[in-house]
Amino acid sequence: MNLTRVIAVLCGLVAPWSLAQQHVHDHGSLLMIQENDRLQIQFDIPAANIFNFEHQAVTSAQNNTVREFMMMLNSPQLFIQFNENCRLSGMTENVSQVFLKTKTDQHHHAHVEEHHEHANVIFSYEFSCKQAVRTVQLPIFERAITLQQIEVQWIDNQRQGLLTVSRNTPSFSLLK
Ligand SMILES: [Zn+2]
Repeated sequence: MNLTRVIAVLCGLVAPWSLAQQHVHDHGSLLMIQENDRLQIQFDIPAANIFNFEHQAVTSAQNNTVREFMMMLNSPQLFIQFNENCRLSGMTENVSQVFLKTKTDQHHHAHVEEHHEHANVIFSYEFSCKQAVRTVQLPIFERAITLQQIEVQWIDNQRQGLLTVSRNTPSFSLLK
């Protein structure tokens, strides 16, 4: 696999709805790409497991939930932690576009509620790490208490792998 191409795809991947995979409640996914000192990760989690609703916030209570989550996104360690010290160098999210209430969009709210669509919360971080990350912890399970599993796909310069992390054991290792 061409890693540069994969990273290019990842950078353009934050879309309102995940097209790449099935939407299954309680199951999220994490894509993790390491290339030299650069580490990119992307979470893709059913909105039902983050917000308890899957549409743009309608009530102010829902909007507060979304705002609180957006504040948390500024602290990646609330979602993922590594054995190595990694410096955050970038973040993208779809929350502000898809879930945050906008004053000018009253008609659209009603429309979205009627259809009861599914939606995913998608957010990505880019880190710079001096050493390749070997162990990963996923405190995201503490933020999303109904989330049961995360399917992790990881890719580095030499290899790639797929594994499932459950909330009972919210960590994994990428062994050499
Ligand atoms: Zn759903």
